[in-house]
Amino acid sequence: MVNDDWDNQLTANASPERRGSGKTRRAPASIETEPPARLPLNHCALFLDVDGTLIEIAARPADVVGDAELLQLLRTLRTRCQGALALISGRRIADLDRITAPERFAAAGLHGLERRNARGDCVHRKLPTGEMIAEVRRALTPLASKHPQLLLEDKDHAVAVHYRQTPHLQGAVEEALRSLPQVQNGALRVQHGRMVAEVIPSEASKALALADFMAEPLFRGRLPVYVGDDITDESAFQWANAAGGLSVAVSRESSFARAHLDTVGAVRSWLRGLTGAGNDGRP
Ligand SMILES: [Mg+2]
Repeated sequence: MVNDDWDNQLTANASPERRGSGKTRRAPASIETEPPARLPLNHCALFLDVDGTLIEIAARPADVVGDAELLQLLRTLRTRCQGALALISGRRIADLDRITAPERFAAAGLHGLERRNARGDCVHRKLPTGEMIAEVRRALTPLASKHPQLLLEDKDHAVAVHYRQTPHLQGAVEEALRSLPQVQNGALRVQHGRMVAEVIPSEASKALALADFMAEPLFRGRLPVYVGDDITDESAFQWANAAGGLSVAVSRESSFARAHLDTVGAVRSWLRGLTGAGNDGRP
């Protein structure tokens, strides 16, 4: 996409009726296009995945921390977007706040199940019962005990199994999750990610988070720009595409995204460039 194309899309696609249903059905393809070096941020809503997009993935999710340069970059972007910036993650919002402390950003956690809007108000979708998640934890405990290098992450309303230390267990993990009665009966579904699989409520998706944000007055009518790195971001890529927005994958692999960047460093450089400050790290 070139900048002229983007400017044209701003005019043609920004009307509410063109905003996305998330139903784009173009087959995923490998991506050769880099995102435009300039964007009219005052007309955009910027949605950013965190792990693998803004910050390198760590062996353990709890090891991930933010840095001063990232915080300053996010603050500057938020200002340029007139507040229409949100972090979109499978993590809990409380965990995102730990990473961006002392700053807090509008955010969606748990794949859209929990959300904090731009005014700082928290909005929660219907969450699964604690008993349902406790049953899932109990069912997965024998597998985690048998393979201590599997990391069982309890997110209160979802349970993730990380197999980064033991990739050969991917099949066993996915089979265990698929076999859960709560997955079999459709109350929960399996969400695949990089070296992680988790069971989450069936309705949860990052597209859901985008739709909820874009329905807010501060975001409404803007062009969604979504950046993410994982399978979990594909629904959001599709949603942004259907809304005439821009989707950027931190990967060249097959994806619904329309543009790509190769690394976390490339994402930060691109975002810094959008602020008009070049790549020197200063806004
Ligand atoms: Mg990610």
